[in-house]
Amino acid sequence: MQKDTQMKIDHLGAKKCVTGSCHLMQIPGARGRAVNILVDCGKAQGRDPELDFDDFPVAPEKIDYLFLTHAHIDHIGRVPDLIDAGFDGEIICTHGTKALLIPMLHDSLSFTQKSKKEIQAIEQKIDDLSWGFEYGEVFSLKKGIRFKLGNAGHILGSCFVWFKICLESDEDDYRVVFSGDLGCTDTPILPDPDTPDACDLLIMESTYGDRNHESRKKRIEVLKSCLTKALSDGGIVYIPAFSLGRTQELIYELDRIGMKVPVFIDSPLGLKITKIYARLDECWDREAKELKARGDDPINFKGLYSVERFGDHKKLLKLSGPAIIIAGSGMCTGGRIVDHLKHGLNDPKNDIFFVGYQAKGTPGRRIIEKKVPCRAGIHKLSGYSAHADQAMLVKWVKSMSVPPKEIRLVHGESRARKALAAALGI
Ligand SMILES: [Zn+2]
Repeated sequence: MQKDTQMKIDHLGAKKCVTGSCHLMQIPGARGRAVNILVDCGKAQGRDPELDFDDFPVAPEKIDYLFLTHAHIDHIGRVPDLIDAGFDGEIICTHGTKALLIPMLHDSLSFTQKSKKEIQAIEQKIDDLSWGFEYGEVFSLKKGIRFKLGNAGHILGSCFVWFKICLESDEDDYRVVFSGDLGCTDTPILPDPDTPDACDLLIMESTYGDRNHESRKKRIEVLKSCLTKALSDGGIVYIPAFSLGRTQELIYELDRIGMKVPVFIDSPLGLKITKIYARLDECWDREAKELKARGDDPINFKGLYSVERFGDHKKLLKLSGPAIIIAGSGMCTGGRIVDHLKHGLNDPKNDIFFVGYQAKGTPGRRIIEKKVPCRAGIHKLSGYSAHADQAMLVKWVKSMSVPPKEIRLVHGESRARKALAAALGI
């Protein structure tokens, strides 16, 4: 069809893997130059590939808009580099993502060679360029391009993006949906993903396209029984967790379980993000709002301790159990969890609970694959996923009023993409 050849969408990152999300949409103008829209600009992790900006089909200074589906680093991590490379367009996201953007990038920038002053300048620039938008309302960009952000239920502020593009005439409207990362139904704190509007092309994530998660009820039961067993010998349970999303979910679930052991959040970023979650309670689901209305703060409890200062982290390394320590990074690539694992990996009394995706080549994945000497117990709780499973992804697509004419699966390893394609019948 004519319009397909006119409009180009390139998957510059996370085409066949899970991290480094980046998609470029080049929309031809009837007259004048094309409008270039980038959806996400994430950092790749582990062995996942990342395209050099010099090899982008259009130079960063020619990108008009950057849409950010959510504030995970594998979706936003290269925004500072994109700006350094010449991007000066508008950054469009939800209010929640806007609130999380700078704290998340500040943390990742602090691991670079940039000076404090340079970091401050780049953060100011990002703040100036970025705009927070409401869910569910249609907004217009230049050249008749419209967009709407739907709640993706993945983390606070996460969205999928629906675009309506007028190529030549009204009959020529072309609608594209970028799913971003889709969350599970019945996720703690967050509402379920919205139903997407109909579209011609759906670009959809497929992280867990080849499996189904346990139900939340089952997952809480499993977590409780595993923790009880693991802590019965007086050991420490380490939970490597993403600071954004997973840490807050864990606090919420541990509060519901009511463990009688101290729980330490050894993550300055995780604590900062938890405060943002607490502040943006308009983004919570009904269950969390009802708990708060009854006077039970859903993301705080007696026995939960914040470890902000590095000196206190050092003291925590000498702690004897039973205790639970939640620390970043989620894939053990850096952060305070690395010190904890160095310290506790060889003690059979201890246990490590993996509650998030571990990309190929990361230390977390290597521990699970038993490629690292380890005497502590290793547990993988797949139910704790911020990503929809196969059944949920299929249901989400089927919930559209009209099936998309084309579905492209991205953001998944080969097996997951193939299994989801089969389940969708594409
Ligand atoms: Zn994500």
